[in-house]
Amino acid sequence: MKLIFAKNLEKTYSTGEIDVTAITSADFSIDSSSFVSFVGPSGSGKSTLLNMIGCLDRPSGGKLRVLDTDVTTLDRKRGAAFRAKHIGFIFQDFNLIPVLTVFENIEYPLIMVQKWSAEKRRKRVNEMLEAVDMTDQAYKLPSELSGGQKQRVAIARALATHAKLILADEPTANLDHATAYRIINLMKQMRDEFGSTFIFSTHDPKIMEAAEIIYTLEDGVVNLTKGENP
Ligand code: ADP
Ligand code: MG
Repeated sequence: MKLIFAKNLEKTYSTGEIDVTAITSADFSIDSSSFVSFVGPSGSGKSTLLNMIGCLDRPSGGKLRVLDTDVTTLDRKRGAAFRAKHIGFIFQDFNLIPVLTVFENIEYPLIMVQKWSAEKRRKRVNEMLEAVDMTDQAYKLPSELSGGQKQRVAIARALATHAKLILADEPTANLDHATAYRIINLMKQMRDEFGSTFIFSTHDPKIMEAAEIIYTLEDGVVNLTKGENP
């Protein structure tokens, strides 16, 4: 199944007098359960693309369908509801809530989105802790964890609702190289286990090899450079 479909996708930011074109006439599509990376130097438009796919920002032109929904027409409120239901995010700086434990951070989307019973939540959180190998750190605070451990928690949180689509914007930028590899491979393992589609962005060519499909960005132009367009 085609999970994402973009045609002639455009994004221009208008800030005062000058317009900045971040994405130019991008065509791409992504199948469900794929493991995809957008690769490009800083300023090439990676975050812009991920933000449009995740309904954090709206395209200026062209088509963009995500999970069979035309997201170009969603207003802020409907975009947020769509995102909460279907999409998990993983960030460069982890974005864990500092006053909540590891367990509570992973539980958070289940409280906000799913309105499950405490027992059902506990079961899911424990399952996610196990999946990312963090069971013995469940009652620590984020400040007590290493960068790699924080990103494991962020992956577990993004997947807690069994989101179909996980977007990770430079998830390894704040990690050393060996840890970055482990995190990318963990994401791939989670794709295999949960069948979610993972899309990450990176400017680090060293971790590109883990991606099955690569779209390379250069000055807002998107080109398929590894794998096949579905
Ligand atoms: P990357 O994530 O690859 O570093 P971005 O998507 O953040 O690239 O940025 C692409 C281009 O769009 C850059 O020229 C950047 O300055 C510009 N840009 C990004 N966000 C905004 C914004 N909110 N307002 C104006 N320009 C922006
Ligand atoms: Mg970026």
